[in-house]
Amino acid sequence: MTSKSPPATPKIYGWCPGALRPMMSGDGLVVRIRAPLGRLSQRQAEAIAALSRQYGNGLIDLSARANLQLRGISAETHDAVIAGLKALGLLDQDAATESRRNILLTPFWQEDNLSHEIACRLERALLAAKDLQLPGKFGFVVDTGAAPLLQNCAADIRIERSGAEILLVADGAQLGLPVTVETAADRAIDLARWFLDQGGASKGRGRMQALLSRRAAPIAHSSPRSSSAPQPALGNTADGQLVGLEFGQITAKTFAALAKIGPLRLTPWRALLVEGARDIAPLPGVILDATDPRLQVRACTGAPGCLQALSATRDLARDLAPFVPKGQTLHISGCAKGCAHPGSAPLTLTATAADTFDLIHHGRASDHPLRETLSASALRTAPQILTEGC
Ligand code: SF4
Repeated sequence: MTSKSPPATPKIYGWCPGALRPMMSGDGLVVRIRAPLGRLSQRQAEAIAALSRQYGNGLIDLSARANLQLRGISAETHDAVIAGLKALGLLDQDAATESRRNILLTPFWQEDNLSHEIACRLERALLAAKDLQLPGKFGFVVDTGAAPLLQNCAADIRIERSGAEILLVADGAQLGLPVTVETAADRAIDLARWFLDQGGASKGRGRMQALLSRRAAPIAHSSPRSSSAPQPALGNTADGQLVGLEFGQITAKTFAALAKIGPLRLTPWRALLVEGARDIAPLPGVILDATDPRLQVRACTGAPGCLQALSATRDLARDLAPFVPKGQTLHISGCAKGCAHPGSAPLTLTATAADTFDLIHHGRASDHPLRETLSASALRTAPQILTEGC
């Protein structure tokens, strides 16, 4: 597919919201919570649900980097949310520290295992590296379980398993540097400094993969990576039950109900791992069945929650989900930015006006459409339009 000019050019912010630096959206401020080790105790999770209900609009997002987002916070109540997060031990000392501490950890870590140990060391190293001015979206992955699980998750520096070795990998490279539990965090900081020294960042933006398209990774990175294991399916696991959130969002009420069952681990797969749980009873908006058709649809916030959205997305996503062919993904995007699925998808609907979409096959939300100006009602009436010409 070739790129076309989107009907309205979406604004690229180049940074992610935090708790201390929230982002304005169509339904108020988005306050992002970066839970240390991607875990919330039951007390923390229940208190977050209470903050969402009291000061927000009762909706909580789970981001692709396994962070929570409270939605609908007002400028007047932001201070109260910050005070609440501080009391829960979920607040960094300042916005720069919060931004730098951008670590995605495999949710299947165990206390004192390799992933846990490396993530703790990396967190301490990032907190100490106050001079490290990385771009707003620059992030780290720690993924040293039996096989890498997070290779498809956006990151700039990866610490991942490759057979018997642990490798430090610059995102976009096929080779990595062998490290140990003792050296991984320091070498990761070295690689971040290398990225900056090589001109990887400009005006607060820049990604490792873009830099590696212009220059090779450091020469010492010479060990081959392993390929990724498949994304874990929803259901019972040795660590608890993995449950899906419809389009990555959950109500505060349901979040509190899950918190009553067990501590929550945040995953980048629009799913929560409820520690120690098995066979959870159905809850609204929680997907328990790994074959649920909603898992085949990606839908961004859309209107009215996003200021840039040209249309609502999720009601249509719910209605079209049963018609997405098995093994395929439908991406419904409120504008050409494609936040819910930045890569190519077999089927994409990109909003061009209220309840009006372009259809793209095997492309991104900004790519040239196969069909233009399809109404949401036409798609609901004749969902086979999605796959005609495939
Ligand atoms: S893709 Fe969706 S969430 Fe992202 S800016 Fe566009 S409408 Fe908003």
